[in-house]
Amino acid sequence: MAEHAVPEGRIAAQAEPILSQQWQRVRGRLRQEVGEAAFHSWLHPIVLEGVRDGAVQMALPTRFMRDWVNRHYADRLRCLWTGENPTVRGIDIVVVPARSVRPVEAVAPAIVRPPVEDTEPTLSSEAAAEAAFAGQLDPRFTFQDFVVGKPNELAFAAARRVAEHPTAEYNPLFLYGGVGLGKTHLMHAIAWEIRRRDPSRRVVYMSAEKFMYQFVRALRFKNTIEFKNQFRSVDVLMIDDVQFISGKDSTQEEFFHTFNALVDQRRQVIISADKSPSDLEGLEERLRSRLGWGLVADLHPTTYELRLGILQSKMEQQGVTIPQKVLEFLAHKIQSNVRELEGALTRLTAHAKLVGRAITVEVALDVLQDVLRANDRRVTIEEIQKKVCEHYGIRHSDMSSARRARAVARPRQVAMYLAKQLTTRSLPEIGRKFGGRDHTTVMHAVRKIEELTAIETALAEDVELLRRMLGG
Ligand code: ADP
Ligand code: MG
Repeated sequence: MAEHAVPEGRIAAQAEPILSQQWQRVRGRLRQEVGEAAFHSWLHPIVLEGVRDGAVQMALPTRFMRDWVNRHYADRLRCLWTGENPTVRGIDIVVVPARSVRPVEAVAPAIVRPPVEDTEPTLSSEAAAEAAFAGQLDPRFTFQDFVVGKPNELAFAAARRVAEHPTAEYNPLFLYGGVGLGKTHLMHAIAWEIRRRDPSRRVVYMSAEKFMYQFVRALRFKNTIEFKNQFRSVDVLMIDDVQFISGKDSTQEEFFHTFNALVDQRRQVIISADKSPSDLEGLEERLRSRLGWGLVADLHPTTYELRLGILQSKMEQQGVTIPQKVLEFLAHKIQSNVRELEGALTRLTAHAKLVGRAITVEVALDVLQDVLRANDRRVTIEEIQKKVCEHYGIRHSDMSSARRARAVARPRQVAMYLAKQLTTRSLPEIGRKFGGRDHTTVMHAVRKIEELTAIETALAEDVELLRRMLGG
């Protein structure tokens, strides 16, 4: 790829205010989706260059950043862009060296006070550090705004405890749970609470992604000493989404050293991840075991009661009134995670305000069609396979084995059929999940089960039962 060639036929972004506005919206959406930390590390530095041959050109200052963004965010960027502007046919991320792009220093970590004087210009003044702290932490993510229920009471209690006791009795605190269940919220809440109680304590909150990014950058610019110094006098270190460093050996090594040094000095370390320490793959054994030494608290998937409670609390925060029936409907229907639940509520109230209509279940059905449908069909191929195996009393490995005996072949076909019916996966994708079978095999299975259910009542009942158990 050409580094900073100004292509012919490019429409400059300045000449296209509409494009800039669309870019603002794309950025806004992404920011909500990926969270503050990742946004600041990777997406904030992107500069809109213009459009060329239907492709939106965006610039980043280094190859490393470009590759990272391409690998992790290109699909979303493309999708959001085409949603904003139907004439956009693709995106193109180019490398434009730093001087013409916003400074990379915009990625200073959230530090209450500079840990070491004058290491990095952006951290050297209290004001800048203060701004970075506030910028990284979401003001809405406080203990007060966290709704506690059975699935998260342990994690909540542990977080409060750590925020209120500076003695690091639980070290590290390890919070884990699925996406959108409140890990980041709780970490920010701890940071706010510590700051409220004792502003002199130095709190650093950072995503593991950013930790890695800064470390790699330090390696490149040969200032790893500075990188290490940043953490030396920190009182509380929080690293969010630590699963991101699995498989990244040198980053892990560095993290392990930082972690040990802090814990040895009885500084508080708080970690979050999507899995428990023992289930985190690609982590070195000694790091994995060390992470589990303190207090491990998990956030379980939400229950109906918790979802209803969250909706009620968010509704009060937004200063709107929504009939209880509608809230119950949403709590019942949107089970995936709190982020989606919140998003649905926001959309519904925005719509109601715009259109000036009362919010009813019918309105919700209409406005939230896509979310509701996605939640209806959230079942995965693995879940289907598991249920089918349980139902027929066969082993899970039989789903991908080459065995053709009727006793396993028929259930396998049923599972393929249900995968086609209940998920949005394509035939080749389904085939891959069944031991790398060809899409024609899946198609054959689907037809076969359709035929058989029309004539065999027992099989039809089996399929219907399974479908209902899987929420189809
Ligand atoms: P995670 O980091 O686990 O993916 P987040 O902490 O980002 O999830 O939470 C996603 C959204 O849901 C945030 O807006 C957060 O405020 C909200 N949320 C999650 N759990 C709760 C809760 N128990 N009470 C209030 N809001 C919550
Ligand atoms: Mg998070």
